[in-house]
Amino acid sequence: MSENLPGDVFQECDETLVPFYKRFHKVFLHAKDHFLYDSNGREYIDLAAGISVTSFGHCNKQVNDAIKKQLDEILHVSNLFYIPGQAVLSRMISEKSFDGKTFFCNSGAESNETALKIARMTGNAKSPGKNRVKGLDPLLPNVEFVEFDSAADLEKKFGDDVCAVFMEAIQGESGIRPVSGEFAAKVSELAAKHDALIVMDEVQCGLGRAGKYFGYQWYDLQPHIITMAKSLGNGIPIGAVHVVPEVADKMQPGMHASTFGGNYVAVAAAVAVMKLLDDELLAHINEMGDYLESKFEALDEFKSGSVGEVRRKGLMIGADIVKRPVAEVIEALLDKGFVTLRAGENTLRLLPPYTITPKEIDAFGDALADVL
Ligand SMILES: *Cc1c(COP(=O)(O)O)cnc(C)c1O
Repeated sequence: MSENLPGDVFQECDETLVPFYKRFHKVFLHAKDHFLYDSNGREYIDLAAGISVTSFGHCNKQVNDAIKKQLDEILHVSNLFYIPGQAVLSRMISEKSFDGKTFFCNSGAESNETALKIARMTGNAKSPGKNRVKGLDPLLPNVEFVEFDSAADLEKKFGDDVCAVFMEAIQGESGIRPVSGEFAAKVSELAAKHDALIVMDEVQCGLGRAGKYFGYQWYDLQPHIITMAKSLGNGIPIGAVHVVPEVADKMQPGMHASTFGGNYVAVAAAVAVMKLLDDELLAHINEMGDYLESKFEALDEFKSGSVGEVRRKGLMIGADIVKRPVAEVIEALLDKGFVTLRAGENTLRLLPPYTITPKEIDAFGDALADVL
């Protein structure tokens, strides 16, 4: 326990919080760009960005200046009034994706729930009972799960009663898995044939993370709806659902709402984020991703097979760890001053802030070789 923390923070938290998370015994007190500093003043290189949240660097100056300026002007009014920044932000999203209309909420889960609601309302309006959805866990009735990247399974389960397909272009939590071009083409074909919407969950892979403005742009595929959150506020909670006008214009006041959605401060943060997201940044993301991948390929362990497949798009990278639990690797990297993530069965996942440079990637490569 550090002298910079009051009492036993770990015990206090364990006694007072619902135990939904297994946490590392560490407290970070400040951060800048891709560096984190713990309560002992030790520096860490961040290769996680929260979980792809502080993608534009911790305490990004432009974003934080925008937040501070907005904070003292006005923070909240209800969505019963016009909030000008919402339109600015929507136009910026359109510029980087497709001409659409946007609904703002506060998280990725909410943005997907909203998309689901829009898809069902759209389907039911086309014909009663057209409300089956493919691609999410079967937690809700009439939602079916399609085998990952299986065009045959998708085709088998499709029908005229399907209102939407939900998918990630590059799955994050399952271990960084890009879908194939053939699968994306099948989604387009079947959605058109059966008049279903294509909903791309861009919460993790969107906003530059996968080396494009949005992950779907790697594919020949035109979504009707994209959902986003995580990187959009660079740490300030904001989610968005961006919808083609033909679908958006069928929605009516009262069908859906979010109390906090699109408040002034969240929108100011996101507008500052969108200003930073340009072709030059994408080039840097792809270059750094490439370099980071080369560190895995250079490992003796990669050649000997104790590191399995490495999958990457932009600065989303997943490396399957073969002969030991990935949790051990993550713990050992943390001891060496590197914050990393797990995903899927046994995948080491890296989602570093876009500010990362070859210097930190070199240091990570050395640490990884040591740990493995
Ligand atoms: C994190 C994540 C979500 C959920 O976002 P929350 O903001 O935690 O609700 C949804 N979809 C994807 C792909 C994600 O990575």
